[in-house]
Amino acid sequence: MSRSILDTPIEYLKGVGPERAKTLKTELNIHQFGDLLTYFPFRYVDRTKFHKVSELDVDMPYVQLKGRITHMEMVGKPRSQRLVASFEDETGSVELVWFQGAKWIVKSLKPNTDYILFGKPNLFNRKINITHPEMEDVNDVRNEIQSALQAVYYSTEKLKAKGLHTKGIGRIMKNLLLEVRGKIPEILSSEILQNNKLMSREEAFFQVHSPTDIEKLNAARHRLKFEELFYTQLRLVMSREKNKRDYKGYVFGDIGAYFNTFYKNHLPFELTNAQKRVLKEIRSDVGNGKHMNRLLQGDVGSGKTVVALMTMLMALDNGFQACMMAPTEILAQQHYQSITELLIDMPVTVKLLTGSTKTAERNEIHAALASGELHILIGTHALIEPAVQFKNLGMAIVDEQHRFGVQQRAKLWRKSTNPPHVLVMTATPIPRTLAMTLYGDLDTSIIDEMPPGRKPIRTEHRNESKRLAVFGFMKEQIALGRQIYVVFPLIEESKAMDYKNLFEGHEAIARAFPAPEYRIAIMHGRMKPDEKESEMQRFVENKAQMMIATTVIEVGVNVPNASVMVIESAERFGLSQLHQLRGRVGRGADQSYCILMTSYKLTKEARIRLETMCRTNDGFEIADVDMRLRGPGDMTGTQQSGLPNFKISNLAKDGQIVILSRDVAETVLKEDPNLSSPKNQVIKAHLIEVSKSQPNWSRIS
Ligand code: ADP
Ligand code: MG
Repeated sequence: MSRSILDTPIEYLKGVGPERAKTLKTELNIHQFGDLLTYFPFRYVDRTKFHKVSELDVDMPYVQLKGRITHMEMVGKPRSQRLVASFEDETGSVELVWFQGAKWIVKSLKPNTDYILFGKPNLFNRKINITHPEMEDVNDVRNEIQSALQAVYYSTEKLKAKGLHTKGIGRIMKNLLLEVRGKIPEILSSEILQNNKLMSREEAFFQVHSPTDIEKLNAARHRLKFEELFYTQLRLVMSREKNKRDYKGYVFGDIGAYFNTFYKNHLPFELTNAQKRVLKEIRSDVGNGKHMNRLLQGDVGSGKTVVALMTMLMALDNGFQACMMAPTEILAQQHYQSITELLIDMPVTVKLLTGSTKTAERNEIHAALASGELHILIGTHALIEPAVQFKNLGMAIVDEQHRFGVQQRAKLWRKSTNPPHVLVMTATPIPRTLAMTLYGDLDTSIIDEMPPGRKPIRTEHRNESKRLAVFGFMKEQIALGRQIYVVFPLIEESKAMDYKNLFEGHEAIARAFPAPEYRIAIMHGRMKPDEKESEMQRFVENKAQMMIATTVIEVGVNVPNASVMVIESAERFGLSQLHQLRGRVGRGADQSYCILMTSYKLTKEARIRLETMCRTNDGFEIADVDMRLRGPGDMTGTQQSGLPNFKISNLAKDGQIVILSRDVAETVLKEDPNLSSPKNQVIKAHLIEVSKSQPNWSRIS
């Protein structure tokens, strides 16, 4: 492809030059025209709207004021000097402050001249001020052509020092637009543009940086988001299809004795419809000669374990081995326990391999694996160590997916000549649009139905004033024979304080629930492993009615008789963590309860989290709210997962465009898998470009 004007080095842009170019590169990673063009405004201000000084409020975003400077003075020691000015309109005056470049600014500002001020109100010493406002002489502004909506760009202190505050960036952006007019290549096919009524690429760039009106701006943003998401999805779908073509999957043609015997004689319950559907999906994958790469999402308690087991039995029936990898020792152990229990009296050999497996046993396991005598291996990361060699691994199950990195999964793949089929399971539901992007190259199955007989957990929010009533309720439940968890937050940054709260909380509870009538177990990170183990055991055996703990119990604890979860300082927990914690109860037949204790003062976000918990038990709904509150990048566990850095799209807000772009990508590739038809050449060319510049962050290598 010929070089496009968008590849021009940024220093050649009018108004930039070598100095600013350097700063643009280091601060914003802007190297070429194209990088600047995709440096999108983060908001817009209506330039026709002016605020009055008397209306200013800290909650306001950027505002525009018209008025005069009545007073200016340099304050502070020479090294930390700042410029303080009073700005006045007919309704009052507000303080302006400059820390950087004060000496230069003091010279450039003219007293008793009408200015248009542009800045963000802050609160300082309980008074409103505006730091580093941008000031323009009213007479200069009159001569400029203004669009009603003015783009606002993020800037940094270093950029501002070089005159590249939001308006400075706006100015070089105008120069750029003049430069590239008529030369921005389209990267979507005309078919896609027409079918989806999308604005041309060039117009979209003009409108997004310099909108003529709000409708055009929205259309421009829609178009640019679409193109960003479309290429993301296109690559994911292509990679999924490529894997299917390139890797021959082992064909599990027979559903045989192991599976059928288990199903007929050993399965202790009727499968839910969701479990049946998922098993069918898996069966069709492993039967068709393609390689399975499937994500199984299902809320805590939805019954993934038995699905995993039956999936492994499909491998056994065809002469293959299977393994299951969990992120923690406790979880691996628990899987081992439930699976050996489910398999009781069946001629299947299962072993557990973790970091604490003794050498002798480890060697035995290695040998049994290599000979094929061992059918199923369950374990932690220990599974992917080089010494672990399977005779013929046909199915790998990865639990709690988000805790494993791409590389670890790749290692599992290399455990056999052909990659084994892979079923990735996660109990942390993530919103559909996030799943599409994060796991877009996997097929997905969802268990969206709980086993029958479960009563939804009742969740209530209480504050300190209701402490006695809550204790009373706990006593009632204990009298009914139930057990209770009380969980305290413990985070690294406030560890000392958190431990203090935990111990004080423990004391207060011990006073209200005196021995010998009440027996309380406690578990936290400062205890030795065997102490933890024995406290846990006391609770599991119902020798203690209450377990006071930090979030160490978040995963992997299964005590069906525990039916009350009290979460202390619940406002400090994130939504997905609250949901995980709550998942510890509701495992038996009794009505379960979750009580969220908080202090009186709550932030708006905390309130939304608590309300959401009280309203619903649905992990997917909770995940949606969580993503809206925190943004997709910050959701638990997804930080290192290789979510692409979107420049304009937001998975939390642009769900519909994600789904649309996925649809379009699937359609295009279904019709033309190699993008060889003439109409798709424009797509192919751009795809080659982006593949060159972006590492392939997709999940499977
Ligand atoms: P998770 O999806 O959290 O891994 P589990 O597989 O541990 O859930 O299942 C939770 C509990 O539900 C287990 O005790 C399991 O035996 C039980 N269970 C699973 N499927 C069913 C079913 N179809 N009917 C009744 N109980 C079930
Ligand atoms: Mg599980």
